[in-house]
Amino acid sequence: MSAARPGWPATPQSLLREDVLALAPYHVADATGLVKLDAMENPYPLPGDLAAEIGALAAGAAINRYPAPDARALKAAIRAALAVPANCDILLGNGSDEIIQLLALAVARPGAAIASIDPTFVMFRMIATFTGLRYVSCPLRADFTLDVEAVEAMLERERPALMFLATPNNPTGNAFARADVERIARAAPGLLVIDEAYYAFGDASFLDLAAALPNVLVMRTFSKLGMAGLRLGFLVGAAQWLGQIDKLRLPYNINVLTQLAATRLLERYADLAAQASTLRGERERLAAALRALPEVEVFDSEANFLLLRVARPAELFDGLRQRGVLIKNVSGAHRLLAGCLRATVGTPGENVRLLAALQAALAA
Ligand code: PMP
Repeated sequence: MSAARPGWPATPQSLLREDVLALAPYHVADATGLVKLDAMENPYPLPGDLAAEIGALAAGAAINRYPAPDARALKAAIRAALAVPANCDILLGNGSDEIIQLLALAVARPGAAIASIDPTFVMFRMIATFTGLRYVSCPLRADFTLDVEAVEAMLERERPALMFLATPNNPTGNAFARADVERIARAAPGLLVIDEAYYAFGDASFLDLAAALPNVLVMRTFSKLGMAGLRLGFLVGAAQWLGQIDKLRLPYNINVLTQLAATRLLERYADLAAQASTLRGERERLAAALRALPEVEVFDSEANFLLLRVARPAELFDGLRQRGVLIKNVSGAHRLLAGCLRATVGTPGENVRLLAALQAALAA
């Protein structure tokens, strides 16, 4: 061992980026033993015959080999299941989170900015920070609709390379008006990525806009359709963009088991869509029951979750957890979310548990 050398060994404080040192770890709540209504998962297991089939596929999978780098069979299954425009390419990500990261890496020139609206999916801001980009955002109106003039002014002022617009939006649950989204697409100086994570629970899609406008990309995930554990998202858009972004994708980002299972599941897309449709019905039943409770405001939702406003959000969140139900307290995330809690729509049984727990916690 040599004598002490100044600055050796390096410490995280001496070596790492200051913005990384300043980050708070992303917290995922422990749901052990709780009814898990915090993360917008599909509550239904695979239909029995499919579970057995996927078991057989996994047993026969060549997990000693690297996965197919281009995942051609899986992309073909996505095209067959969904109306991906013929003039658009598909890029696959290990969840759409990875796609957000790839897009950010691709535009990360010095001084470049990522834009979105506020409140929205937190990962847009987080990944801008991870990749050393400026993050700019424009508040929604108090009713969570887009303030298009304000968004246009932000685009003009900040000239972001990339803007993310989630519709239906998380955590507000509402979808944005088509005319507003189109105006933003035409005003955006760079790429507009429309994040349709919750498309299966609403009626709108902007895939046609990705086909019509060269600066529009549409991102989707299968996480809300019963495949959150497989980690699979995709991006749709013009080959001139996707071909460049694909260079940053690590070659084997979609693993063998995900490729096999998702390809098979997409062949049964009608079953997945039927579960989503059931959840839409449950959402409306749950919303009506919640609206009947005293002191609970329920916002309209086109997603698989409901945003509620209550007088004492932290107390109610804790009261629900004590009664075995985990939802998400978003009341501190943005001033427009004051008093707000977000609850994923579950199975009928889970929703009954949520309602009963909420009633008891409100009365306590
Ligand atoms: N976009 C939005 C709007 C989301 O709410 C989520 C998940 N909460 C994602 C993207 C990420 O989904 P995943 O990484 O699971 O594909």
